[in-house]
Amino acid sequence: MAMRILSPLAFAAALAAVSPAFAADDLAAGAAAVRDRALTDSTAWDVAESLTSEVGARMVGSPAMERARDWGVAKLKELGFENIKVEAFTTPAWSRGAESAEVVGPWPHKLSILGLGGSSSTPAGGITAPIVVFKTYQAMLDQPPGALKGKIAVVTQSMGRTQDGSSYGAVGVQRRAGAPEAAKRGAVGYLIRSISTDDTRLPHTGGGAPGGIPAAALSTPDAELLERLAARGKPVMVKLDMQSAANPGAAAWNISGEIRGKEKPDEVIVIGGHLDSWDPGTGAIDDAAGIAITTAAAKLAAQPGKPKRTIRVVMWGSEEQGGSSGAYLAAHRDEVGKIVVAGESDGGAGRIWSVSLPKAGADHAAMVAFKSALPKLKVAVSRAAPAEGGADISGIISAGAPFVDFNQDMNRYFDLHHSADDTLDKIDPAELAQNVAVWAAFLYTVANSDVDFRTAAPKP
Ligand SMILES: [Zn+2]
Repeated sequence: MAMRILSPLAFAAALAAVSPAFAADDLAAGAAAVRDRALTDSTAWDVAESLTSEVGARMVGSPAMERARDWGVAKLKELGFENIKVEAFTTPAWSRGAESAEVVGPWPHKLSILGLGGSSSTPAGGITAPIVVFKTYQAMLDQPPGALKGKIAVVTQSMGRTQDGSSYGAVGVQRRAGAPEAAKRGAVGYLIRSISTDDTRLPHTGGGAPGGIPAAALSTPDAELLERLAARGKPVMVKLDMQSAANPGAAAWNISGEIRGKEKPDEVIVIGGHLDSWDPGTGAIDDAAGIAITTAAAKLAAQPGKPKRTIRVVMWGSEEQGGSSGAYLAAHRDEVGKIVVAGESDGGAGRIWSVSLPKAGADHAAMVAFKSALPKLKVAVSRAAPAEGGADISGIISAGAPFVDFNQDMNRYFDLHHSADDTLDKIDPAELAQNVAVWAAFLYTVANSDVDFRTAAPKP
């Protein structure tokens, strides 16, 4: 091949054409370095340990949630975040009182239950009624109005173990929506098999819909016990004694801190987890892990130097009982057009096995650099666009913010979720660090580039 001498202008043009490639190489090397540092860094573990030890369970509306707010502000300060904000809002909150359940006859047994969020109290002294067991939620829905008059409806549909957690959406409806459906058909109480993949006698709580009747989750062995007792053909009498309180306007807070961008500080990457939890455990996998992963990732992404764009970490204040997503959108609606990308870590601490990136931007040099950091972490790049970014960012997503979905291995998640077993010891430090490495490499490449994930202007 003959050599060709370039004019100075053509030479400059050729250099310009080549230089993005140099920039991409630099980003890839930087992402690899950030990733490798994350794999040996203990910040995320320290954050999860601190939150679960110093605060523990933190239900919206409880004194513990106020301590969690103060913890969040202090932790962001300690880690060097700037522009720390506490954005207050109010939201309905439910709180648990004394609860007990037992089979009173013909074969007496104590039952292990946890009331569902939104449950009504029983009258003092409890209620005793015969049960009707449905092995699927649909079988209960198939009952006509009045068919469950004076009965306690029991739904015992079980949940399958899946890597992507998809069975939660499908089977969880019996928890989320069942109480009013039972009440409509005349039931005086509603019990479900816990939305759980475990077989311990610990029940799993969670948000339900208020139906004006007491509603609780049974441990999985107790749900199976009720199936066996009902199959004997005699009326099985269950006594429920459940107290709770509802606060229509509990105080809650979305807390955030930033690493301000040095070139385009108004372009903001919004990531985080939720600070609130259910009450039986210490909220370790749900969601101290998400708080820890995103906080540590932001810090590590900025360690090579201040990024060009701003990275904001948000500790959303009421995911479990709802409210933080709407409050965050209300406070940031004018800013949605400046949100480069949003992401939430709320699937526990299991390793990330695939990432879904918005189609617009997925082939940008910065994302090529990000993807080059993933094989070492055994993470696949999904060809599907992100389907669901997380409950707390659903508001800003609905207003047009682009988002990513990093899929965590959820095989073990529903053994622990919303139960007394959601404790720090269930977090594997190596898996936690793998999560941080993925997020940190992503933040580093997005914050130091001009990748644009938008396909349309934000909605007004
Ligand atoms: Zn959660």
